[in-house]
Amino acid sequence: MVDKHIPDDTLLYLNNVTVSFDGFKALNNLSFLIKSRELRAIIGPNGAGKSTMMDVVTGKTRPDTGEIYFKGSVDLTRHDEAEVANLGIGRKFQKPSVIESLTVWENLELALKGRRSPFESMFKGLSSEGSKKIDDVLLKIRLQDRRDLTGASLSHGQKQWLEIGMLLLQDPELLLIDEPAAGMTDEETFRTADLLRELSQERSVVVVEHDMAFIKALNCRVMVLHEGSVLAEGSLDHVQQNQQVIDVYLGR
Ligand code: ADP
Ligand code: MG
Repeated sequence: MVDKHIPDDTLLYLNNVTVSFDGFKALNNLSFLIKSRELRAIIGPNGAGKSTMMDVVTGKTRPDTGEIYFKGSVDLTRHDEAEVANLGIGRKFQKPSVIESLTVWENLELALKGRRSPFESMFKGLSSEGSKKIDDVLLKIRLQDRRDLTGASLSHGQKQWLEIGMLLLQDPELLLIDEPAAGMTDEETFRTADLLRELSQERSVVVVEHDMAFIKALNCRVMVLHEGSVLAEGSLDHVQQNQQVIDVYLGR
């Protein structure tokens, strides 16, 4: 890594990242760090660049300028989406990609097998190690008693958890989660906050959300994005008292 003043426990490093679309800067000299096993919430108005930030980290969008490093020396700007996923970064989009006609178990089995070559997944069944992995994930996402139900029969919240479970089977060191609580009931929202807190004991989790009750329940460091840069950062109480944050986001 180029900069020598970066703490050892940094997992993700963005420095002066800029992304322009037809001259409009969706990200504007964006810089921040995520530590190992950190849970970080990102808030900010629509169009602030939250999803674009995830796009540049995951290789979907290439930044015009700036540095993005993972685990110290891995230059993420040199990798495409599939490679970034294999490097240990899992991303959950807003819309779940659960296959509705398959059971919860089958969806997880597919996610696990995604790791192997198509040849292997066609001819090999699930090893006992693989089954155990799926059982562990089912427990984490609290869908043990739904394992034989189809994706279609799950509630919106349960689908989101299943999708998180599918990502966990790839064992990511960093999870990026875009607006998980949208459309969830209050109870599902709080269970999701609990789940993400639990997951962050073993990996870093970066979550974008608008739901302030959810952000509060995460009880973690919050970063406010505005016009493609960090406007404020700190505890939720801290950023909520920032007048600029109130003006551009919270007070509207
Ligand atoms: P957020 O997720 O914070 O709501 P986005 O990152 O989706 O914001 O978008 C930031 C800005 O960049 C918006 O103005 C959006 O219209 C623009 N933008 C995002 N992706 C593209 C793209 N692929 N082409 C053109 N403009 C884009
Ligand atoms: Mg977005």
